Amino acid sequence: MQYIFLSHDVDWRRQGPSLEHIQARKDRFDLEVFNKTKPEELYRNIPEYMELEEKFGIRSTFFFRTLYENGNVNDFEDDIQTLQKGNWEIGLHTDPQSVNNIEKIKQEKEKLESLTKRSIIGNRVHFLNYNSELPKKLKELGFLYDSSLRHSKDKIDKNEMGYSKIDELIEFPVTLMDAYLFTHMGINEEGIIPEFKKTLEIGRKFSNENVISVIWHDNVLKMKGGRMYKKILEFLTSQDDVIISKGIDIMKKISKNENIDK
Ligand SMILES: [Zn+2]
Repeated sequence: MQYIFLSHDVDWRRQGPSLEHIQARKDRFDLEVFNKTKPEELYRNIPEYMELEEKFGIRSTFFFRTLYENGNVNDFEDDIQTLQKGNWEIGLHTDPQSVNNIEKIKQEKEKLESLTKRSIIGNRVHFLNYNSELPKKLKELGFLYDSSLRHSKDKIDKNEMGYSKIDELIEFPVTLMDAYLFTHMGINEEGIIPEFKKTLEIGRKFSNENVISVIWHDNVLKMKGGRMYKKILEFLTSQDDVIISKGIDIMKKISKNENIDK
């Protein structure tokens, strides 16, 4: 099986960026979509993601920050509750400035848990600001998995898939991410599905029990490129050997298999 760990990083405060920021990036949107959407809803797509994934019968992980520029994670309380009730997973999108300080990570985890009212076990650092000391800190704080590691910005190969156990923490390297596809890899909309196909082929050769970790940012769903998300789900769900899951479920499956091996 090729397991797709599907996730969305929520990088922007609930109100989205400033009007100036959005205006300067108007050409990222289809003009009609831009004109008919309220500015504060251009970057926020949690309800749309839920609706789409519900349609395909799949669930993903949403990584929330606790330190938003000019914003407050508390504004996401309703979204977080709705996601959890619907069986989506909430993970921590740790601030890049927190990664070297276990106290700061702890504060962020506790902040987010005050909204989820349950333990957070998955982590991803904003900007993938990973370092080799991080897994140990995360494990100590009760996290069970992380997905912040990427070796290159423009390659997809076996180093960027599967998982490894680092200091007793499961690490899922980031295989496919919207931003890297469109910038570092220079892939246009027509190239996205072929890139997913290619990645699956690499995965199948690599292992028949493989994990491919995908980030599709919350803010890109209405943008050119990002709007291909529905097509991606159509393609992935059409493959017989693909299972799409949230991080916690893949993590549980791996832990179970590892126990069997012992
Ligand atoms: Zn981020």
